[in-house]
Amino acid sequence: MEAISKGANHAEYCSGYSEDVDIIREREYPFLKGTTYLDHAGTTLYAKSLIDSFAQDLTSNLFGNPHSRSSSSQLSTQRVDDVRLRALRFFNADPEEFDLVFVANATAAIKLVAEAFRDATPQGFWYGYYVDAHTSLVGARELAAKGHKCFGTGDEVEQWISGLSGDQVQHPRLFAYPAQSNMNGRRCPTQWCQRIREESSGSGRAYTLLDAASYVSTAPLDLSDASTAPDFTALSFYKTFGFPDLGALIVRKGAADILAKRKFFGGGTVDMVLTEVSWHAKKATVHDQLEDGTPPFHNIIALDSALSTHERLFGSMSNISSHTRFLAKRLHKRLAAMRHFNGEKVCHFYMPSESNYDDPATQGPIIAFNIRNSSGGWAGKSEVERLANVKKIHIRSGSHCNPGGTATRLGWSAAELRRNYSAGLRCGDDHDVMNGRPTGILRASIGPISNLQDVDAFASFVDEFYVEKARKTFPLPPPVTLVSQQPSFYVESLSVYPIKSCGAFKVPDGQRWEIKREGLAWDREWCLIHQGTGAALSQKKYPRMTLIRPVIDLDRGVLRVSCGSDSKELEISLRREVTNVVTTSLCQSAKSSNVCGDRVVVQAYSSPAVSSFFSNFLGVPCTLARFPPQLSTRYSDPGRFSRAKQKRPMPGSFPDDPFPTPEQTPILLSNESPILVVSHSSVNRLNEQIKYSPRPSHSPPAKAVEADVFRANIIVAEDLHQLANAERPYSEDNWKSFSVGPEQLDFDVLGSCQRCQMVCVNPYTGARREEPFSTLAKTRKINGKIVFGRHASISRTELLHDSNPTKIWTVMVGDAVTPTHDAE
Ligand SMILES: *Cc1c(COP(=O)(O)O)cnc(C)c1O
Repeated sequence: MEAISKGANHAEYCSGYSEDVDIIREREYPFLKGTTYLDHAGTTLYAKSLIDSFAQDLTSNLFGNPHSRSSSSQLSTQRVDDVRLRALRFFNADPEEFDLVFVANATAAIKLVAEAFRDATPQGFWYGYYVDAHTSLVGARELAAKGHKCFGTGDEVEQWISGLSGDQVQHPRLFAYPAQSNMNGRRCPTQWCQRIREESSGSGRAYTLLDAASYVSTAPLDLSDASTAPDFTALSFYKTFGFPDLGALIVRKGAADILAKRKFFGGGTVDMVLTEVSWHAKKATVHDQLEDGTPPFHNIIALDSALSTHERLFGSMSNISSHTRFLAKRLHKRLAAMRHFNGEKVCHFYMPSESNYDDPATQGPIIAFNIRNSSGGWAGKSEVERLANVKKIHIRSGSHCNPGGTATRLGWSAAELRRNYSAGLRCGDDHDVMNGRPTGILRASIGPISNLQDVDAFASFVDEFYVEKARKTFPLPPPVTLVSQQPSFYVESLSVYPIKSCGAFKVPDGQRWEIKREGLAWDREWCLIHQGTGAALSQKKYPRMTLIRPVIDLDRGVLRVSCGSDSKELEISLRREVTNVVTTSLCQSAKSSNVCGDRVVVQAYSSPAVSSFFSNFLGVPCTLARFPPQLSTRYSDPGRFSRAKQKRPMPGSFPDDPFPTPEQTPILLSNESPILVVSHSSVNRLNEQIKYSPRPSHSPPAKAVEADVFRANIIVAEDLHQLANAERPYSEDNWKSFSVGPEQLDFDVLGSCQRCQMVCVNPYTGARREEPFSTLAKTRKINGKIVFGRHASISRTELLHDSNPTKIWTVMVGDAVTPTHDAE
């Protein structure tokens, strides 16, 4: 298989490129160093010299608004005209036969066509589209007054075409389909356009709209024969060149009349407009009539650089086509060959059976698949994507804006999908598997500068994390004999995270700390919110948050915050003050896995001193916000809530509260549970595994991770004086409950803590690493979830039997911890 070590000796691999793809990459794509980018169907990437030459162009010329008469304006107009012609030629489109309308993106091109059709006749139009369509094509159906139809198979389309000549209707029809599915790379028959034109005529004429946005990224779109070409072709240039963000609608002039019936006009599209009476004269050319307002002329000028650079580096789209085909074939072959120890396939693909990576007429260089374990269970797409992310691999997961394609391939009916929606499924969320079936698809897409190493890195990634080489032995057997010996743990450290996602405040030794039903006092009392979106910031996106270190100073009644090595400190009163606080509604980002979609009212600090303190450090416009007082948690029963409020808080915290309880039932945002417990011996075991796990020779030696990366509230350790050398890593996996301290305060264990890549942020530097997530994924997957540590809360019985409203529960470093175990 390694016969092709470097591409140079294979006919398809970067043949026709100016240089070896690795050399081009090194010089032109410096940002790709150490990265495996396999999301070219999302966008391909721009070359450095494209940007340099564009910058040179802009800084050496004076470009005015193209709609004026000055020489600077005329220069812009000329360049726009030249680039328009050049872009047409790139697609072999004869300017006599075609015009090219610059638009924002492919979606805008589609919308322009759909709106023109809506306006063209009083009765409206009929719309047909192919099931593999991008949402941008699907949406056009909402404008079709004469109805619409989604064609589920190619045969259905063929049948409809055959019936066109006999089916004379009085309204225009529009048939739209993708040249290539962005979801699985499947290519549709090109001859549909010609056949549809031949079979229909007159007032019931059927027009064709080709969505070429995905196709043009790796294949030559050839419009040299106007008689077989689509009437309208929509595309986005960033898909081909990475830059500029610009789209085009290519119009076959023979079909342009219907677009001229579009009602809206604005900016440059008219020659004269009267306002006294309703009269206007449209400009003559197709593009003049359709380009509303000032065209994006800087972007159009950038397209000139893009075309030159692209040609210089890659020669032609055909070269890219064979290069990407070669790599896709290789990746598909490797993934398809993977087997678990029991012979079961690892990857399940979503390309139709007739697709063939050798045949550019049916298949583009996109691989759509999901991963199964040895017993047939599906790996969650979000987990795969997260793990890939940790490995600096960029792929895409989800439904890829291709609702018909994904639903068909995954076998979901409309009714089932609506049920999933009611059950909470949303685009881009973490509901990966519902009713035992995947809701989304993984997509690896190849581009012009993908290389052998990308493909091999991705295949190795799947092999490393998802191919079960041997039957798994269940990793958690706490010997029953040991359990009966009453293993004894103690509280090694207590951490409070006053500001969600920021650094820890360690409770000083010797100080008893109040613990409430919601968790340790002051834990997740505050958060940082984005001033634009209102969403709570997370360390996942802003790893520097870990360097924001809060201190609870009970003596002075303040929260003291410092950032990194800055000497500046911010002090916030622990009292709830009415001044300088505004109430705002916190929008949990839809992607947040824990409290998805919930809205919570928080009190944001409006003082510029507060917001600039955090904004300057993180480089994002944000401010501090405080959760409302004494929120009930999802685990609490409402009856207890009011009594809990009457309790005297711990010395130094403040009973009187100026804020009314908000109307919505809020929830505490301390992630998934009031308290997170981690055992030090488990961290030690994990570190042994990190150190000794085999790794590729080129990677640096693995370093142990700090227990703090797990952001536990309570770290427990075995009392080794009592049981010599008796570390029992992961015995907490079987804890049912535990009691702490001299008063034996009881806690219920609620479940295991599912982990994400946030554990990879080094708590002392804010740098992202690969560990411990990488090793956790291999050693700590239980029921398909990567888990470490246990969620807990003060036990129900403790809460129910506590009749003394003045009682305060406390814990302290050094307290004994006595677990009880689940019966095996
Ligand atoms: C990317 C893509 C689109 C949408 O392109 P925009 O630039 O977002 O408008 C539409 N269809 C297909 C097939 C695509 O790949």
